[in-house]
Amino acid sequence: MANKDVTDPVRMEKIVSLCKRRGFIFQAGELYGGLNGCWDYGPLGTELKRNLKDYWWRKTVQERDDVLGMDGSILTMHQVLVSSGHVGGFNDPMSECPVTKQRLRADQIPAADPGIEYTFLGAKDAVSGKTTDKQVSILIPNEKQEKFQSAAKIARKFYLHVFGKDSKPQLLEEDGFTDTPGPRDGALYNPENGALMSEPRMFSLMFKTTMGASADPDDPNAIAYLRPETAQSIFCQYKNVLDSNRIKLPFGIAQIGKSFRNEINPRNFTFRSREFEQMEIEYFCRPEDGLRLTDEWLETRLEFYAEIGIPREKLHILDIPDADRAFYSKKTYDIEYEFPFGIQELEGVAYRTDYDLGVHAKGSGRPLEYFDEETKERFLPHVVEPSAGCDRTVLALICEAFDEEELGKDGKSDIRTVMRFMPSMAPIKVAVFPLLKKNEEQVRIAKEIQKQLQPWMNVFYDDGGAVGRRYRRQDEIGTPFCITVDFETLGEESPDLKGTVTLRHRDSMEQERLPVEDLLPWLLARVR
Ligand code: ATP
Repeated sequence: MANKDVTDPVRMEKIVSLCKRRGFIFQAGELYGGLNGCWDYGPLGTELKRNLKDYWWRKTVQERDDVLGMDGSILTMHQVLVSSGHVGGFNDPMSECPVTKQRLRADQIPAADPGIEYTFLGAKDAVSGKTTDKQVSILIPNEKQEKFQSAAKIARKFYLHVFGKDSKPQLLEEDGFTDTPGPRDGALYNPENGALMSEPRMFSLMFKTTMGASADPDDPNAIAYLRPETAQSIFCQYKNVLDSNRIKLPFGIAQIGKSFRNEINPRNFTFRSREFEQMEIEYFCRPEDGLRLTDEWLETRLEFYAEIGIPREKLHILDIPDADRAFYSKKTYDIEYEFPFGIQELEGVAYRTDYDLGVHAKGSGRPLEYFDEETKERFLPHVVEPSAGCDRTVLALICEAFDEEELGKDGKSDIRTVMRFMPSMAPIKVAVFPLLKKNEEQVRIAKEIQKQLQPWMNVFYDDGGAVGRRYRRQDEIGTPFCITVDFETLGEESPDLKGTVTLRHRDSMEQERLPVEDLLPWLLARVR
């Protein structure tokens, strides 16, 4: 699927349903109807997300000498975001559909196909007798049959909003509408119903709040924002990190944390949320190294995705053209993944020059230059920023792992659902079963194995139902290994096998026998 528009909604529906059924991800506030654009991770989703964040941290911070970590405050000063350009600049042009009240990003609405634009000039409510002269325009594509009827149906929905839900809108009969060839130049139409959208308006994407009990909401000193990205606290603390650590250019500061954007149109499950986590690195360097390091970071990040189970061939690199890049960026790559809803951005790798440190030096009036001991030069470092979305990567891991395998025989269908997570990402690393719940010795050994493994990895104990069913339950949540304590373990079948267990592999479903004392090293070599 190398085409942006090729989607697989059926697969996506199955994934969303599995996420809820097995406790990966739930809609926030679901009990009360749901909070749009916000998600709660259930027990398995939380483990998966932790595994991703831990691995990113290990690879980005702990296994490198040149990157340090930080954990900044979510509440962010007004002045910081004024300097960064977010206050005033962090806006999207939005258009509203008069019929559904949906707000869509104006720059993301596709061009409408040619057709007939019907403009309805008013309506009457058959219940109350009231009339309105409010107008609504609907563009119906040429290939559609019964164009007028389709447009009238949508228009009636519009007038239902106007008169209220118990009304019965009737369109005006004589001279009640006009029809002209469309689309009009520069006009936007809702791709779902053809309604002419409102003129685009700017909406701030930031969540604003006030600090202090009796704060005046218009006092800039009392205004704070939920940060729209983790990056700004890194830029603002760059000098403190530099001064408190013996580190030289090039070096990076990495952070994982929540960010908030009042996205107008949250969609595609967790892909576009209003509250999400980012995994960002600001890598400070000499100006002449910026472009080279941008390419190097792109490679490093691609390797990372391959290591966590997102293959290179499912990733697309978009080299953002000059005209579409932020004005201060000299190079930006978007790393995109083939989601079932289309090819979409996972991460941006941007060479941001000295823009960020420059605006904060100016805004704060404090010098942020770096002094190079060797060359005796003083200059503002440049920055390369690999900025990844944690929730988007979790979603990519889930989409990539989801598989349905036909195991049926003799014309009987038997579909096995398997989440093929890499062991390092899998929420549960190993499940331990006694073959028979009633066999006390099997239960004792199984519990002992569970206890022995628990300090090292996430283990799940299950003694309910037939063992085949237990395997399937683990397959569906992506547990890579299952251990069964059986009669051989007790030495009842053959004395040679005493003290060994069945180890079953999720992907191949193959089984092998391992001595109990080998389990920990065997698993440790495979699950980290
Ligand atoms: P988009 O174009 O999709 O809105 P962006 O280019 O604005 O994203 P950045 O500001 O570069 O995103 O943020 C870096 C990363 O943070 C993105 O690559 C993405 O993974 C993640 N991210 C941004 N916005 C959201 C969101 N609303 N929900 C989930 N993740 C997000």
